[in-house]
Amino acid sequence: MAPTAIYASRILTPHEEILDSVIVVEGGKITQIGHRDEVRIPEDAEHFPAGDKIVVPGFVDVHIHGAGGHDVMEGTAEAIARVASTVARRGTTSFVATTVTAPPEETSHSLRGIARYIRSPRNTESRFAAEVLGIHLEGPFISPARRGVHPLDAITPPSQELFEEFLSAAEGFIRIITLAPEVDGALDLIERAVAQGVVASMGHTDATYEQARAAIARGVTHAAHMFNAMRPFSHRDTGVIGAVLTSPEVTAELIADGRHVDAPAMEILLRAKGLEGVLLVSDGTAATGMRNGNYRLGNFEVSVADGVVRNSEGKLAGSTLTLDRALQHIVALGVPLIDAVRMVTLLPARRIGLGGKKGVIAVGADADIVILNPDLRLAGVMTRGAGLA
Ligand SMILES: [Zn+2]
Repeated sequence: MAPTAIYASRILTPHEEILDSVIVVEGGKITQIGHRDEVRIPEDAEHFPAGDKIVVPGFVDVHIHGAGGHDVMEGTAEAIARVASTVARRGTTSFVATTVTAPPEETSHSLRGIARYIRSPRNTESRFAAEVLGIHLEGPFISPARRGVHPLDAITPPSQELFEEFLSAAEGFIRIITLAPEVDGALDLIERAVAQGVVASMGHTDATYEQARAAIARGVTHAAHMFNAMRPFSHRDTGVIGAVLTSPEVTAELIADGRHVDAPAMEILLRAKGLEGVLLVSDGTAATGMRNGNYRLGNFEVSVADGVVRNSEGKLAGSTLTLDRALQHIVALGVPLIDAVRMVTLLPARRIGLGGKKGVIAVGADADIVILNPDLRLAGVMTRGAGLA
């Protein structure tokens, strides 16, 4: 593939803002950034003038179940590739494939399939699709009381043995585990996960403040879709929400679709955590990028009407959100653009230990690039050097 030179009047790296510069992409990587007179542009480079548009890194989604009519639990290369190409069109250039609570054999089967895909050249070669960076195990060690739409009969108490089985089925690609820390056995499992380099996340939890703080002391550093499927906050029972809001070492996911969390709650989260403590996630399902209708989330049916996903009891069941819209929503709350961009790029990439490679425009990073119109609508996407025609 020929090198590409992207001429941009405004780049948010997003460590900083750079004006009037050129990004040179070769072999799927960013090889140079600088002012036009400092950069040696390869003779065979294709030129891409971005005009007055804004150039930012590709979005990184650490909580997404599916898109384009497919769920990652299907575990086939076709299903995962469809998810990867669908979200890439909306600016997500890499993601952590997220499972939903299911019987153990089914989960292991899905994990094997996802791991096979992650290892395959198809996942990392230069082509137009998001890259799967690993697996987010959501359940089955969650609270029946805060299960959301996770099926009750597949929820199990934390088990080291089962976790080991999942780790080996996933070939070490589990990057995040979301569990309920108040359930017996969870604290030991948190320590085990952290020792394996897995980010321990609290979610689908009825934990009290004290229980959540105990989990943080044992290694929890993240919280899944803040406010959703959590014990509610009250002034004398602040619960897991109180613990997350007052613990700087914990990052919080936010589904900023305007449906899952009301604007004042989003503002409280942003003020309490600071702009470096919140990661925007989609919690997207198979219905993302699809018309109204019925779809599968893991092994149960959901229906979609006007972009809202619900199960048969009418509970919210993930979203059809894409991170380009999450970014627009957060900016509409008054968050400066560069900070909002960090919440969908640098911060999620760092959270899973990929800070220099993903979510950043820097020499040596993967050429995952999004171009935004001044009104923040998507104008172009490049994944590992491919796309951006
Ligand atoms: Zn969830």
